[in-house]
Amino acid sequence: MKIIAIGRNYVEHAKELNNPVPDEPMFFMKPETAIVRNNKPFFYPDFSKNVHYEAEIVVKICRLGKNIETRFAHRYYNEIALGIDFTARDLQQECKTKGKPWEMAKAFDGSAPISNFVNKSQYVDIQNINFSLELNQKQVQAGNTGDMLFSIDQLISHVSKFVTLKIGDLLFTGTPSGVGAVQIGDHLVGKIEDKVFLDFQVK
Ligand code: ZN
Repeated sequence: MKIIAIGRNYVEHAKELNNPVPDEPMFFMKPETAIVRNNKPFFYPDFSKNVHYEAEIVVKICRLGKNIETRFAHRYYNEIALGIDFTARDLQQECKTKGKPWEMAKAFDGSAPISNFVNKSQYVDIQNINFSLELNQKQVQAGNTGDMLFSIDQLISHVSKFVTLKIGDLLFTGTPSGVGAVQIGDHLVGKIEDKVFLDFQVK
């Protein structure tokens, strides 16, 4: 399986990092070794001094597909979860400045904690879901999937032009504003609507 992650899909987040708003979805990938499940701790990597959290809705692909049309994309996923796209912001800045690929900043071991998945039918409108992140009992991110620049269906369509989507692949759909640094000892709690999906420590 593979993880595909979307960058800059919420306007306010693109602005907070002084990035331009993209005119088509931009994506990068994380390997399977990035995944952390079952609220196991995130181990702070020794190669960065500025690791940021990015809370994101994650979609699990349930059908094989290539060149998926937007109007059919909803058939290609049944379940959603909450994930954190941990980013070594200092390394990412170096990548941007030097024109290097982002993997060392985005794809490292443990950089993708993911909650359990729930069926999307629990939600009336997939493009109107509230989600949030608390850092040490203080809310730091609050987003609504209605604020995505490109909808989940548009993301699936776009990515599948380049990369065949397979059953079990995961799509991180971008983060709202409020990203920031974590420190060893921090406690992160992520919610979709009022339900806790993620609850783990930084070690
Ligand atoms: Zn992200």
